[in-house]
Amino acid sequence: MTDTQAAITTLNIQSEEYFRSMADAIPLIVWTAKANGEVDFFNHRWESYTGLTVEQTKGWDWSPVLHPDDLPNCLSVWKNALATGEPFEIEYRFKRADSAYRWHLGRGLPFKDSSGKIIKWFGVCADIEDQISSKVLLDKAYREIEKTVADRTAELASANQQLARHNEIRKAAVEALQRDSSRLNEIIATQTMLAKADLDLDAFIKLVVERMAILTNATGTVVEMVDGDEMVYTAAHGTVAQHVGMRLKIGESLSGLCIRSREVLNCIDTENDPRVNLEACRKVKAGAMVVAPLFNSGTPVGVLKIMATEANSFTDRDLQTLRLMAGLIGAAIGHQADYDTNRRLLSERTEAVAALEREIARRIEIEQAVRENELRTRMILESSYDAFIAMDANGVISDWNQQAEITFGWTRQEAIGSILGDLVIPERFRQAHTEGMKRFVATGVANVLGKRIELPGLRKNGEEFPLEVTIRALPYKNGYEFCAFLRDITDRKHAEERLVYLAHNDALTGIPNRSLFNDRLTEAMLRSKRTGDLLALMYLDVDKFKSINDTYGHATGDALLIEFSQRLRASVRASDTVARLGGDEFTIIAESIASDPDAEQIANKIIQNVQKAMNINNVELNVTTSIGVAFYRGENMDKDQLVNNADRALYRAKQAGRNCFSL
Ligand code: GH3
Ligand code: MG
Repeated sequence: MTDTQAAITTLNIQSEEYFRSMADAIPLIVWTAKANGEVDFFNHRWESYTGLTVEQTKGWDWSPVLHPDDLPNCLSVWKNALATGEPFEIEYRFKRADSAYRWHLGRGLPFKDSSGKIIKWFGVCADIEDQISSKVLLDKAYREIEKTVADRTAELASANQQLARHNEIRKAAVEALQRDSSRLNEIIATQTMLAKADLDLDAFIKLVVERMAILTNATGTVVEMVDGDEMVYTAAHGTVAQHVGMRLKIGESLSGLCIRSREVLNCIDTENDPRVNLEACRKVKAGAMVVAPLFNSGTPVGVLKIMATEANSFTDRDLQTLRLMAGLIGAAIGHQADYDTNRRLLSERTEAVAALEREIARRIEIEQAVRENELRTRMILESSYDAFIAMDANGVISDWNQQAEITFGWTRQEAIGSILGDLVIPERFRQAHTEGMKRFVATGVANVLGKRIELPGLRKNGEEFPLEVTIRALPYKNGYEFCAFLRDITDRKHAEERLVYLAHNDALTGIPNRSLFNDRLTEAMLRSKRTGDLLALMYLDVDKFKSINDTYGHATGDALLIEFSQRLRASVRASDTVARLGGDEFTIIAESIASDPDAEQIANKIIQNVQKAMNINNVELNVTTSIGVAFYRGENMDKDQLVNNADRALYRAKQAGRNCFSL
């Protein structure tokens, strides 16, 4: 600029023609303007460049050749320069003759006189399109580079961010890994603890549910075991601790489904999961839960469950922990099952041994009791009032007590080893005895066993006597042993006979009493009825017997009654019955009487015999008797009627003066 100004100043004085020639030689547009800015000269380049003549462009405002975008700025700079008189430089797009806009650099310089007043403006306009283009290209290249740089920077930033993120992730992963490994350590520690604890299964499971609460995000942990068609809360911890013992139908719970599916089931939100028993979940306040099956020898026997009060509480790690611990419990259950089996077998063995010992003790006790019993039995047998004899099936005597010695007369030494029949049974019964015994051994049938029977016995001295015998057969050494209690009933027999005698005979005279008389009369009447034979019943009474008693005393009266009875007895046939009914009254049943006179004959004979003098206690007495006779020939009549008839006949005989008979 300064150089240009100097040049112009140097050329100041040269002619305008010279200036214009020189201007035309310059490959730039050259213009001059008056001090007010009115253009008064363009060189030829202007004309060739714009296709406009100087005349055409005189006094205009440049707008036809300037780019509309650049016009305001150019006018503003130009006006400013006119106002200030300062040189200016400006870039703008200038329209060429071919209508193409090209960038130009315009410069204007004021030409001043010595007083500093502007007399002329001098300017050039250089086509800088190519520079501009290359600048644009350069700019573009720059921009591209910048963009690339920016892109790269952005990429780098993004990469950095990513790296930072990756770093964070890695850090988190490392932390997680650390947490995981500490969790694994916890699990391993738990396993070790459980393995060392030597707990029974219940305590083991309890410990596991407690540890699960530490190892996971669970607020409650539980082991449920299958019991029939139900799941039972066997052990529980945390929020569900108070629900131990709770039961749910297998078909109505997630745990049941877990048993059936044999898979770990994850329920992230119990309120929105159709698989769960919502009522039960609300009861135990479970918002989320995960269940893992517990296997024993491949069979699901229960579940390990973790619960949290809030939904979405569990992570993959919790699930993994659950799986691990479920496996652990499963193994423990198997172990426990083996342990239980062994313990059961052991206790069964112990019990069997104890039972055997008890049995041995019992046998010893029994043997002792048996020995004591034998001793007692021996003592009882020895002190018994009954003879006791034991023998084998061949009749050989094996036992013989003291009373047997007394009863039969044979000592124990003599008896044992002997044949029973030879010793105690009268000869005529021995064969029957032997056969009876053989029959029993062969058939088990016997008439005499277990009953109380009377048999004749034989003493050593040959005397026979009545025995009451009870015999029993006891199984013994593949056969039988016979035991018998034998009682000598001689005395009893005698007493019995005496009783019978007394029951039927008059104690004073010894002849049949009223009882026997009644029996005999009944029998005689039956016989008479059957045979048609005549039967005579005589009713006798001593005449004036009272006076004998009164005169000689009751004892003499008794003796007289005895003598009287004997005289009656002597007066009739042995087959006839003479009985005393009481006092001085007697009866005679005379059977098979030929006719009435026969009876009269008998009556007379009696009267004759009675009235013969009697020596009673050294006193000579004379008595008579009156007789009433009644007959029976098989009529329909009872004995009382017949007796009554005889009694009435007696009464008539008494009336007739006594010492006679009446028919
Ligand atoms: P009757 O000629 O009318 O028969 O006169 P009786 O004196 O014989 O009179 P009754 O036959 O009525 O009397 C029987 C008596 O026999 C009455 C009683 O004191 C007596 N007596 C009854 N039983 C016994 C006895 O067992 N021994 C003795 N000594 N007297 C007896
Ligand atoms: Mg009398």
